[in-house]
Amino acid sequence: MARLIFITGGVVSSLGKGLASAALGALLQARGYKVRLRKLDPYLNVDPGTMSPFQHGEVYVTDDGAETDLDLGHYERFTGVSARRSDNITSGRIYSQVIEKERKGGYLGRTVQVIPHVTDMIKEFVLRDTEGLDFLLVEIGGTVGDIEGLPFFEAIRQLHNELGWGQSAFIHLTLVPFIEAAGELKTKPTQHSVKELRAIGIQPDILLCRTSHPLPDEERRKIGLFCNLPAERVIPAMDLDTVYRVPIAYHEVGLDTQLLKVFGIEGAPEPDLTRWVQVVDRVKNPEGEVRIAVVGKYMQVKDSYKSLFEALTHGGLANNVKVRMEWIDSEVFERDDAAAFLENVNGILVPGGFGERGTEGKISAVKFARERNVPFFGICYGLHMAVIEAARDLAGLDGAGTREIGDPKHPVVGLMTEWVKGNQVETRSADDDMGGTMRLGAYTAVLTPGSKVAEVYGATEISERHRHRYEVNVNYARQLEQHGMQVSGWSPDGKLPEIMEFPDHPWFIGVQFHPELKSRPLEPHPLFTSFIAAALQQSRLV
Ligand code: GLN
Repeated sequence: MARLIFITGGVVSSLGKGLASAALGALLQARGYKVRLRKLDPYLNVDPGTMSPFQHGEVYVTDDGAETDLDLGHYERFTGVSARRSDNITSGRIYSQVIEKERKGGYLGRTVQVIPHVTDMIKEFVLRDTEGLDFLLVEIGGTVGDIEGLPFFEAIRQLHNELGWGQSAFIHLTLVPFIEAAGELKTKPTQHSVKELRAIGIQPDILLCRTSHPLPDEERRKIGLFCNLPAERVIPAMDLDTVYRVPIAYHEVGLDTQLLKVFGIEGAPEPDLTRWVQVVDRVKNPEGEVRIAVVGKYMQVKDSYKSLFEALTHGGLANNVKVRMEWIDSEVFERDDAAAFLENVNGILVPGGFGERGTEGKISAVKFARERNVPFFGICYGLHMAVIEAARDLAGLDGAGTREIGDPKHPVVGLMTEWVKGNQVETRSADDDMGGTMRLGAYTAVLTPGSKVAEVYGATEISERHRHRYEVNVNYARQLEQHGMQVSGWSPDGKLPEIMEFPDHPWFIGVQFHPELKSRPLEPHPLFTSFIAAALQQSRLV
């Protein structure tokens, strides 16, 4: 049976618990263990799919079509293990299942309560689909003391007891702040956070202490004393220059060694961290730089485009260059000339998005890229914008637009009411619920031999993840092709254009899916590798 590692957080949020969990997963993997990561989110939304990117950052989509927390993106990028629907649950989902069961009479007339019914449902989720794993890492969202989180903490406390010695461990991530005025690190918040944990019956096995300054042994001993732990299990997690160094740094401070001791595992092989060392080396020593403009909508919140940021970085790693990203709110092009902002960039990317605001600005950015031969990458809504631009400017279809915004004269992007997934026909309509009704998850696309994308992928059949309601309207495909914009990827039934490109442009590709979700530092996505290579070439021309 898989051993369980529960990762909780204390003191403040935003300490990077997701990243810490992911990096620990990678470190255990480097020791040859089979791992999977899972996130328990205490909020009441059934999934983050309907949350605004301003609220919650990016919605990460899995192959099996779940809309999940962005931490699952960290897990995949660090471990290369594709996440599944069963790897993210929320209080909302737990409660809706408990209530559904109650309505069906599943509780046989008993009073339905948080303990044991909600906690049982949580435990069932935690233990589901874990066959063949050595370790399951379970991250609990939020911080200890949050009211919403209590049933989750109670459930993991129970699991720890039920599974018995050596089957589970608790890691608690805290902050040891440096107080400038005193010139000292302060351990009190950590002590209080552990006190809170112990009050609900959880004694952490390991403390991972985020700190901006080295944590002296004396302070480790002190924390250990107050928190009931040997000093060597109080592990400093210093701020680092690059996230890719985290697995290496954790090993250096003994996190994996101590964790294996908690489980009573002896004689485990030393981790092979060569590939992470290589990635860090590339990040630290780039041989050049390219400038990429990302023209979108949710620019104030960096996490809204988390995977995109990472994928562009990976494209840089593959080409040994640093990618300098300029995040531009497309609305500025509705007031000022796009050229003023885009004159000096080596590539333009229009990412996914929703709704009307800023769309005309995105269309101006596409036009600039197309006319000025600047490498262009359109993702999902970015593809829609590229199609609208080509329809209006090249095919002369005045009033071309997407059905997402009003009722355009030429709906070159429209709502498909039916599509095929595997052997099944799926349907949707304009009045469906907002949650979970998009075309979601992995779909196959067939690439046109000889096209740019077929060359980039080195394949003619690919699988990529989707998250959208609208599609390029196949009824306009011929007209666009006559004006130079080719459909170079199709759904297997030939009904949905999946990729469009201009063969006579240095690099102009729009895709209906989200390739950024599948890029990993150890395996950069081919489209991002190729886009950055094109940008590099462009930078040498100017
Ligand atoms: N808003 C568009 C749609 O729903 C595109 C979505 C996206 O970019 N992910 O089809």
